[in-house]
Amino acid sequence: MKNTLIPVIAIDGPSASGKGTISQLVAETLGFHYLDSGALYRVVAFAAKQNGISWADADALANMTEMLDIRFEHGAVFLGSQEISQEIRSEAMGKGASEVSAHPQVRSALTMLQQEFAKPPGLVADGRDMGSVIFPDAVLKIFLTASAETRAERRYKQLLERNVDADYTAILQDLQMRDKRDSERSTAPLVQTPDALLLDTSHRTIDEAVDFVLNAYKNVLNSSLSH
Ligand code: C5P
Repeated sequence: MKNTLIPVIAIDGPSASGKGTISQLVAETLGFHYLDSGALYRVVAFAAKQNGISWADADALANMTEMLDIRFEHGAVFLGSQEISQEIRSEAMGKGASEVSAHPQVRSALTMLQQEFAKPPGLVADGRDMGSVIFPDAVLKIFLTASAETRAERRYKQLLERNVDADYTAILQDLQMRDKRDSERSTAPLVQTPDALLLDTSHRTIDEAVDFVLNAYKNVLNSSLSH
């Protein structure tokens, strides 16, 4: 029997799969809390840069991570009193997050902080290892993905909309490199666990994907009532 006291919906998947948007909409609809675990790794990369710590120095990164005062307030990310919501979204911090998150010491320094997000009435947790490591008892696990080409195209369009110069081929190569690093690392690799439902958004709109998750959650609730 899974822990349904505080229901957790774990949504894992690769970069640019639409996870963030879909998870936030599901959380809003259900009135649940939302954990953007990728933001935590991005904050670690940002803080390391600020403190002159190399993204390769696992022990120094883990010591620093234990001391960080990371807060989320109304969707904004704070490091101490500094708001760094925009800064952590850069491509450089995405790359840094992917590097620092490969160290087991850094991952374990962030484990408890992530688990503390599970508060009533429930949590939608978005990341790479939400269902496999952080919330193994999640009542619903979704593996959300889309083809690398679809994800690169979405990111390319987003950048153009923001008037940022973008190169589709470079974006695709970067995504493929990050996928490879995330899936091949030895600690908490990005994998679809056997108990996770696959949701491929290559040919689905955001609303369709949100409905898929909400329906799956309804089914979980109904089946727990009938047992
Ligand atoms: O999701 P986002 O792109 O913000 O994550 C940035 C990086 O952080 C990912 O490429 C991945 O390497 C790492 N990450 C992770 N585990 C998580 C969330 C993110 O390793 N739960």
